[in-house]
Amino acid sequence: MHKIDLDLVEMTLDVMKYTIDRISKTEDVIGKPQKAETLKALVGETVTDKGIGGETAFNLWKQHLMHANVKIDHPRHLAFVPAAPTRASILFDLVTSASSIHGAYWMEGAGGIFCENEAMKWIVSLTGLPQGAFGVFTSGGTAANLSAIVTAREYWRSLNNDNKNRKGLIITSIGAHSSIKAMAKVVDVDVLLVDTEDRLKGAALQQTMDGLTIHQKERLFAVVATGGTTNAGIIDDLEGIAAICEKEHLWLHVDAAYGGGALAADSVRHLFNGIEKADSITIDPHKWMFSPYDCGAVIYKQPELAKKAHSQEGSYLDIFKDEGAHGFNPTDYQIQLTRRVRGLPLWFSLATHGTDRYKQAVERGLELATIAGQLIKDMDHVELVREPSLSCVLYRRKGWTPDDYRDWTFANHDKGFALVTPTKWKAGQSFETVSRFCFINPDTTEQDIKAILESMK
Ligand SMILES: *Cc1c(COP(=O)(O)O)cnc(C)c1O
Repeated sequence: MHKIDLDLVEMTLDVMKYTIDRISKTEDVIGKPQKAETLKALVGETVTDKGIGGETAFNLWKQHLMHANVKIDHPRHLAFVPAAPTRASILFDLVTSASSIHGAYWMEGAGGIFCENEAMKWIVSLTGLPQGAFGVFTSGGTAANLSAIVTAREYWRSLNNDNKNRKGLIITSIGAHSSIKAMAKVVDVDVLLVDTEDRLKGAALQQTMDGLTIHQKERLFAVVATGGTTNAGIIDDLEGIAAICEKEHLWLHVDAAYGGGALAADSVRHLFNGIEKADSITIDPHKWMFSPYDCGAVIYKQPELAKKAHSQEGSYLDIFKDEGAHGFNPTDYQIQLTRRVRGLPLWFSLATHGTDRYKQAVERGLELATIAGQLIKDMDHVELVREPSLSCVLYRRKGWTPDDYRDWTFANHDKGFALVTPTKWKAGQSFETVSRFCFINPDTTEQDIKAILESMK
């Protein structure tokens, strides 16, 4: 029997009370950053020889520190890609921590990994990839993209000896997420950007490839298409791109970190046609699958290729390969060894609500974008830059300069009212500063959108 520690009980109740408060409040200020010096002046020394005690530390968090964070799940947080973790997933995130599961090998984490895999089966089923395809949860889209690029590159190098000495090359478009370029740097491969922020079509890809030198062609091993650009929600011509990759024997990676959730939505599923031909796919459950941070996913058509690239060797790891051989070892399919079973909160939430509720919640995000588009058309002071795509809406306030957008963003944020940030949109040769909504949270209301648009008058 454990001795029951009353302080521990009290702290547990305090934490639960905080959690209930935090996840049941829908109307609140949005939170904003403070300078480190300001925070230091508010809380003083917190890490000391003897400690300041849990109660004091928790009070400092509640009184000061938590307010210096933006609530990404706030219904009027429509900047970047917002989040809206379900309450079930947040509660099971606490359970995940309390359970202390090492999620690298089946031998130690079978129960947790089993649950992750049940959730992963649903995600894989949304992609339409053939039998045998499978995936693993990662810390996010960046780690998923990195894991996929490493797998593609290692596979390419295994094809012939010359490739082993070549520096690889991948093609993507300027609409691709910054992490593609950043991870290409990590892997030390070059990136060729097709100059379109709009939908990358098969024809434009073919044209780019036709323009490559023989030396470049030898180095080219993969194409990265985007399934919902982060800036504008644009889905590349996956069918056309897949056909070229098949013909040219190139690895096709589809980065659907943001857009992947929309695979669950019947109204837009057809826009992703061709994704079922990908060799690898990135989807972030912490974006549009309502999971708490952090939770990404990388899925492979042929997981054994990922295993060849990522499986780690070490004498003290051999035991996992023996006793754990009858199970799935997540470490073998991505860059991380020790890992949180970060798909566990998603599993619990899926089990709680059922996948239909996920479909409905994603459809609501799409609907909110349509509603916003209509409101913008109906108002005189704003206009659409392009029709809404997935849940992204780009629009301009007539007559505004980049400074006006920035001042408006800061004024709304300062009041704790809303966070809506400007972005740039490339039309022709020039970049225009415009405003952008991205909807994830099904609790955002039409009234919220109206109020934000009216604050631009
Ligand atoms: C957000 C995003 C990423 C990066 O994912 P993280 O989870 O932030 O690491 C990559 N690609 C796309 C398309 C994204 O929207």
